[in-house]
Amino acid sequence: MPSEAILQRDGKTFAITVRFSGGFVTPADLEKIAAVARNHAIPVIKMTSGQRFLLAGILKKDLSAIWKDLGMDPVRATAPCVKFVQACIGSAWCRYGVQDSIRIAGEIERFASGTEFPAKIKIGVSGCGRNCSAGYFRDVGLFASTRGWTVTFGGNGGRIPRIGEVIGQDLSAADALDLVRRMLEYYCCNASEKERTSRFVERVGVPRIKSDVLSLCPYLTLEDAD
Ligand code: SF4
Repeated sequence: MPSEAILQRDGKTFAITVRFSGGFVTPADLEKIAAVARNHAIPVIKMTSGQRFLLAGILKKDLSAIWKDLGMDPVRATAPCVKFVQACIGSAWCRYGVQDSIRIAGEIERFASGTEFPAKIKIGVSGCGRNCSAGYFRDVGLFASTRGWTVTFGGNGGRIPRIGEVIGQDLSAADALDLVRRMLEYYCCNASEKERTSRFVERVGVPRIKSDVLSLCPYLTLEDAD
């Protein structure tokens, strides 16, 4: 099976996902997707919850030509990697936004994309406490207040949902990014194969994560790292 496509329930056709940083697309992007869908008779185009375009109903023989016509590198659909960094429009556009969610989501995407993790990672970044990107239910969540960023880790939806642990609060953008990087590195080094962050946090326990990682972060208060 091609690693950049997922076999669909009909057992014959495949789906691919096309990712745009932060979910932002230009008119040219939309025209390109529409043209490729028309030229290759792709029957389904769907916006996913992770702000990606899913193109489905594709025959295996057409996959390479479709990626070539899209002009994008194939996304490894089955690899344990960052599936998406979902960002709300934040302080750049939203009347409620107090921090720049688009910028911080872009930075996370730049350092985390392309890295293999023990299991898939979903990230949500929101520019205020309304948390429109559902950070508590993401492997890594960030949401903002006027005092800075709150970072959560180990959340997920799915069959066994879990609310992520708050691991830092009132952080500058630089410190929040550093904390996300440290937690992902720690997860990479210590999680078992296919172990999602939620199950990893349950197995390892918050006290050990605090002593192994959080107590080493100079910007966390004693309350956070105790
Ligand atoms: S989380 Fe806040 S800033 Fe982001 S879209 Fe929702 S209301 Fe706006």
